[in-house]
Amino acid sequence: MDPRMGRIQTIPHMASWCQRLGHQPPTLLGNWVISRQRYWGTPLPVWTCRDCGEHTVVGSRAELEKIAVGHPRKFELHRNGVDQIETRCKCGGKARREPDVLDGWLDSGVASWAGLDYPPNLKNLRAWWPADAIVEAHDQTRGWFYNQLVSSILVFNKTPYNAVLMHGHTLDQDGEKMSKSKGNFVSPEDVIGKHGRDALRFYTLQATVWDDFRFSWNAVETAARDLQIVWNVFSFATLYMNLDKFNPTKWARGKLVKSFHPEDKWLLSRTETLVNDVSVHMERLEIHLAVRALREFVIEDLSRWYIRLVRRRFWLEKTSRDKLAAYTVLHHALRSWLGLAAPAMPFLTETIYRGAFRSTEHLGPDSIHMTNWPSMDEKWTNKRLEEDMRIVQHIADATASARQSKKIKLRQPVSTILIVANKPIVKRAVKTLRELLLLQANAKEVRLVSLTEEERLKKLIVEPNFKALGPAFRGEANKIAERLRSLDGRQLMRAFEEEGHFIIKLDEKDYKITSEMVSLKEETPENHALGNFDEGRVYVDLTIPTELVREGFVREVIRRLQEMRKRLDLPVDAFVDAYVSASNPEKLGWLEDERNYMMEEVRAKTFLLLRTDQPRPLAGLEEDWKIERENFHMGISHQ
Ligand SMILES: [Zn+2]
Repeated sequence: MDPRMGRIQTIPHMASWCQRLGHQPPTLLGNWVISRQRYWGTPLPVWTCRDCGEHTVVGSRAELEKIAVGHPRKFELHRNGVDQIETRCKCGGKARREPDVLDGWLDSGVASWAGLDYPPNLKNLRAWWPADAIVEAHDQTRGWFYNQLVSSILVFNKTPYNAVLMHGHTLDQDGEKMSKSKGNFVSPEDVIGKHGRDALRFYTLQATVWDDFRFSWNAVETAARDLQIVWNVFSFATLYMNLDKFNPTKWARGKLVKSFHPEDKWLLSRTETLVNDVSVHMERLEIHLAVRALREFVIEDLSRWYIRLVRRRFWLEKTSRDKLAAYTVLHHALRSWLGLAAPAMPFLTETIYRGAFRSTEHLGPDSIHMTNWPSMDEKWTNKRLEEDMRIVQHIADATASARQSKKIKLRQPVSTILIVANKPIVKRAVKTLRELLLLQANAKEVRLVSLTEEERLKKLIVEPNFKALGPAFRGEANKIAERLRSLDGRQLMRAFEEEGHFIIKLDEKDYKITSEMVSLKEETPENHALGNFDEGRVYVDLTIPTELVREGFVREVIRRLQEMRKRLDLPVDAFVDAYVSASNPEKLGWLEDERNYMMEEVRAKTFLLLRTDQPRPLAGLEEDWKIERENFHMGISHQ
C-alpha cells in the first residue's frame, strides 16, 4: 500500500477500494482528460499565443489583468467575461484563451482547498485541512473520493481526508431503486409530515451505514413508537422529580452510595458503559451501532426494566433516601443519554433538555447541542453486575414467554420457577439478584435445578417405528407397537445404553427391541411451562395455590381501578374515593383482606366493598369489568 494512504481511517467493510487505489500510486493511474467542450463551467485558464504557440497558464484575476491587452473594469471569471480578453505574449504577439472549460470533476477534486480560499489564503488551509472525514455513497468510489485523493496527492503529496465513511443508497422495501414513474418513490417530506424529522432520522441512523438502505413505512412507525417511549420515560421521571422538587445538584451519586439497591448500581454501571460504547462507535463512524445502543438503553434497560423496578420507590416519602437514590441514579442516566442521543434526535432531545434539565443546570448552555459530550467515569462500572443482570433479564423474558404459552398472565403470581443452571454464570446471577428476579418474574420462589433433575421432570415418549418393526415382527408388529407406546422412554434408553437392546415380554415370548425400532421424544412436564433463554431454560410451575389465585385476583382489580384513574386523567398524587360491587361474597372477602394494600396502590381515601344488593354511591366514573368471566362494577371519584 502506498505510504501516503497509510493514515486514512476507513470502515472495515469498505477498506478494500482504498487499498485498491493505494496499491497504485495515483501518479500511475493513467491520463485524465480534464477539459470539456461546454459553455458552463470553469474556463480553462490557458492562453495560447497566435504567433509562437506559447501557452500561458493564468493563476488569478490579478495575473490576468496584468498581462491583458485591455480589459473591462469589471468582468466575470466565466466564459462571458474572460473569452474576450486577449493577453500579450513574451514574443510580442497576442494570445487567446483555449475555448474549453474544465471537467466538473476536477472542480470537485480541488473543492477541499478551493473551498478554504486556497490559494491565496494559506491560513485557512493550515487550520482546517486535511478534513477529519468525508462522507459519500459508494458510487463516489471512482468519483469524489478518488478525484480529491488524486488532486491532493498531486498538489500537496498528502491525502485530503483522514477518514472515509461510505454509505449505501436508499432503495424501496424490495431493494428496487425509487422512482416517481414506478410509483415507489417516497420523499423525506412525506415521512416528516407523518412521523416527524426525528423519527426519520432515528430510523435511518439505525440502518447499517455502508449497506444500501431499504426504506419501510413499518420501520418508521416503529421508530416513531420508540420515540414515544423515550418521551414517556422522561415524562414519568420528571413528573415525580418535579412533584418532590428534586434537586440533582444537591444529591450527587457519591452521597447516596449506602442507599443504592442492586438495580441502582446496575443502572449506574450500564450508564457508564453506554457513554463509553456510544463514544467509541461514534469515533469509529459506526453510527448505526451507537444509535442502536441508545435505543436499547432507553427501551430495554430504562422503560422495560429499571423503571418497572423502582416505580414503587417513587411513592415513598419525599425525604426517603431510598427514593432519592433512585432519583439520582435515574436522573444521571437520563441526562447522560440525552447528551449522547442529541445528534440522533436533535429536536426531541432539545425539547426535553430545555423543559426538564436546563433549569437545574445553572451554568449549562441554552441548548443541548452546546453541552459537553458526556464522559465515562470508570469508578461506577461493575461489569460483573451488568452480566448478572443481563442473565436475569433473559430469565424474566423466558418466564414471560413460558407463561404466555399457557395463557397465565404476568399479574398472576406463581409459586415456583425452576431454572436449569448447568452454567456457573446462571447460578451466580440467580444467587446475586434473587429478590429482583422474583419480583420481575412475579414468582414466590426460584429453584436452581441440575440437568439430571430436569431429566426427571420431563417425560420421554416412545414412538414405534414401523419401518423397522414391520420386517422384524410381521403380524405381531401392531401388538408390540401398542406395548411400546405404554412404556417410559427412559427405561428403553437405559437398556439401549447398557445392553444395546430392550426386551419386551408378550404372551410368554421375548421380543428384542433395538434403537432403530423406536424414536424417543421429550415432552415438557405437565403442569410446567417451558421458556428458553440463551444461557439455559426455565420451567414455570403452573400449580397455583389458592392464596396466589387470591393475590392474582387482587392485582386484577387494582389494575382496573388504576386504569380508571388514568381515564379520569387524574394527577399522579391525587387521592380518590373508590368502590367495588360484586355478587360473589368470597371474592369480596379476598378484597377485604387486602384492603390496606389496595388503598395504597390506588391512592384511595375511602374504599367500599359492596354486595350487588347494596346501594352504590355516586361516582365520577363507573365501569363494568369482567374478571375470569365474573362481573364487577367499580366506581371512582376524585377526592
Ligand atoms: Zn508568442
